[in-house]
Amino acid sequence: MPGHGGGYPAAPDARPQGPPGLSGAHRPASFEVIAGDASSSYIVHVPHSSTVIPQDVRSELLLGDEALAEELRLMTDARTEELALTAARQVAPRPWLFVNRLSRLVVDPERLPYGHEEMTEVGMGSVYTRTSGGKALRDLGQPAEKDLLKTFLWPYAEAFADLVDERLLVAGRVVVVDLHSYPQQTLPYERHQDARRPQVCVGVDVDHTPAALVERVTAACSIIGQVVVNEPFSGSYIPLRHFGRDIRVASVMVELRRDTYLREDGSLDPEGARNINAALVAILGG
Ligand SMILES: [Zn+2]
Repeated sequence: MPGHGGGYPAAPDARPQGPPGLSGAHRPASFEVIAGDASSSYIVHVPHSSTVIPQDVRSELLLGDEALAEELRLMTDARTEELALTAARQVAPRPWLFVNRLSRLVVDPERLPYGHEEMTEVGMGSVYTRTSGGKALRDLGQPAEKDLLKTFLWPYAEAFADLVDERLLVAGRVVVVDLHSYPQQTLPYERHQDARRPQVCVGVDVDHTPAALVERVTAACSIIGQVVVNEPFSGSYIPLRHFGRDIRVASVMVELRRDTYLREDGSLDPEGARNINAALVAILGG
């Protein structure tokens, strides 16, 4: 599987190299492709489950250890990787997984860089400059932002788009299931403070989410609780290479409210996790 098998930076091809200040022999891989069956058209995207921040990136953040831990607690889609993996193992043909191995506080692969993104206005574009509570997170100059994008965002986006192209070639179509979770309490950075917060929010795109897919995902998720489309969050991850260009690439976002599967201490609630598993298996087996 040339191109993305080992994840960054192990891939031997011509991926952009980190700038001198950001290089380092022990940098953890920034993403991982977990292979599914050759015939599967499903890719489960898990962008926000990691809390890993490389030391050189950590040293640029303006938060003490305690404040950083709290921000990670609020912003990490805890255990979504585990939920995705467990479900994927039960589905034939087995779906592919694309997992972000770094925290969204390093770069957020779901956001668009350079002002194309409404979240940039609140300091939470692809490189966050503010916390979810509006405190300063980074003192970011343009070169530093460029370096972060070059080191982490572009290789990630390219590898994801390559995986989509590879699946298109083999399966003729792709369904991206963009798996997230979100807190019960509204965070100050959120744009739509009065929106409902159902147990499941299904994010859809006007061009890339066929009605039948919305229906299927909504029906599957009803075992978890109330399901609402595009509220409080909207849209779903589609690589820029395919966005608006190739409707063979379908995408749907599943945002699980965290109290549906997580206990206060961060452990999995068995019944909630079972329901989510059933929903994901139904979605990925369709
Ligand atoms: Zn998320």
